[in-house]
Amino acid sequence: MSAKILVVEDEEPLALLLQYNLEAEGFTVELSHHGEEVEMMLEETEPSLIILDWMLPGVSGLELCRRIRANSKTARIPIVLLTARGEESDRVRGLSTGADDYVTKPFSVPELIARVKAVLRRANPESIADTLTIGDVELDRSAYRVKRGPREVRLGPTEFRLLEFLMQSPGRVYSRGQLLDSVWGQNVYVDERTVDVHIGRLRKALNRGKEKDPIRTVRGAGYSIAEYNEAQLR
Ligand code: CA
Repeated sequence: MSAKILVVEDEEPLALLLQYNLEAEGFTVELSHHGEEVEMMLEETEPSLIILDWMLPGVSGLELCRRIRANSKTARIPIVLLTARGEESDRVRGLSTGADDYVTKPFSVPELIARVKAVLRRANPESIADTLTIGDVELDRSAYRVKRGPREVRLGPTEFRLLEFLMQSPGRVYSRGQLLDSVWGQNVYVDERTVDVHIGRLRKALNRGKEKDPIRTVRGAGYSIAEYNEAQLR
């Protein structure tokens, strides 16, 4: 899964924050800081979804939304509008202009990402898998549940996010710093040994039934989850 998301937002720190977090979720991100260039960009790129700020210099997000909808080539691209206004009448106005959803600033990034995924899922059910599977390890994002074969694996929220993150790119090795940034968040200052503690907990829970350990420690580099097939994991 690598849906491409076009983020149109003139506040650069917010645009970068969105880019960082969307990329951590496995999305490909393109940024635009100016409404004027969006239509030109859409001539060349076909995003799976557009996150569109309402208040932009030049053409407003609302006007852009109208234009994107009016162009047959872009009419079907889902749009999530961002705005500082929270009034119900504005909400209705945004949706009637053709936005698929509407998020009011300030918003939490996880909430926005959840909305983005929900809109993508509606637009294209295959673009976001609810379930990640590696060998006999199955992680269900919507039910927030992990199973190892028939056995339910109970994880704390950090272990769940850690496993979800690793399972998005099996075989790829992540340093402790990268895991901290992606799972704990960029602005959280915790010791890198915290990662080891949570990997330890995750392993314990995953391998409670004496199964083979799917998590690989790469000395001097970090951690990855193995690209095992089912037979190897048993
Ligand atoms: Ca703005």
